[in-house]
Amino acid sequence: MSKAFAGKTALITGSTSGIGLAYAKALAGEGANVVINGFGDKDAIEQERLGLEALSGAKALYSGHDLTKQDQIEAMMAEAATAFGGVDILINNAGMQHVAPVEDFPVDKWNLIIALNLTSAFHTTRLAVPYMKGKKWGRIIQTASAHSLTASPFKSAYVTAKHGLAGFTKTVALEVATFGITANCISPGYVWTPLVENQIPDTMKARGMTREQVMNDVLLAGQPTKQFVTVEQVAAMAMFLCSDAAANITGANMSIDGGWTAQ
Ligand code: NAD
Repeated sequence: MSKAFAGKTALITGSTSGIGLAYAKALAGEGANVVINGFGDKDAIEQERLGLEALSGAKALYSGHDLTKQDQIEAMMAEAATAFGGVDILINNAGMQHVAPVEDFPVDKWNLIIALNLTSAFHTTRLAVPYMKGKKWGRIIQTASAHSLTASPFKSAYVTAKHGLAGFTKTVALEVATFGITANCISPGYVWTPLVENQIPDTMKARGMTREQVMNDVLLAGQPTKQFVTVEQVAAMAMFLCSDAAANITGANMSIDGGWTAQ
């Protein structure tokens, strides 16, 4: 049976773990060539890359550039163009978090979070759109967050970046609407990934709580289903947004947050 995205190339930033890796698996499983990006153990990444190729026989390329830096983003996009001609599906997913009161928020962390969670999406998008316009088809998906719609204390840089990403996505959607290109945000609530696990110690410190209190009274407190979202559920939404059935969904912000932002 023919695969849904055979012949297409998907570039997913921050795809060596968590949600990004789930997107890569889903897209590779449907025949797309994938460009994966992110940090981690070299051997483990190579195993993931081989695993992605084994899913459908399409190619998987690892581009390990640091997306807080413009020249490295440009290098990654150039590698994708050299290998595959260009990017049909762009998923801006790389992100980081830091938890601290605004008056103590480290300036270097603010700059890194804005660079990675917001500015990198501008650079990848501006470099991907000309190819998509030429093909009269493209899909741009951002992993935004419930924090693109609502705020939580002690996450000023993250909330700012994610709100910015939502506005950027709506703007791009309008600009490319007549070219068969859609641009949308997926906004998960809490998904159990290293990003969430790693913020528990700082949240314990900032709020004076135990680990259990952070899990139940902070993370899942606002999520009415009282369940973490799974990476597979987020990837399934991306697969739908990439399908022809979603050709008229653009400029949207799709919540997968167990009811968090319905409140
Ligand atoms: P994760 O920590 O598992 O993955 C982050 C990825 O980004 C990793 O591959 C990491 O290597 C990569 N990365 C980090 N710094 C980078 C850099 N400078 N350059 C390139 N790559 C870099 O986290 P995750 O939870 O899978 O997060 C993925 C996205 O989902 C993020 O944008 C995050 O804000 C968003 N998100 C996560 C949750 C959640 O609850 N986990 C909820 C809403 C939104």
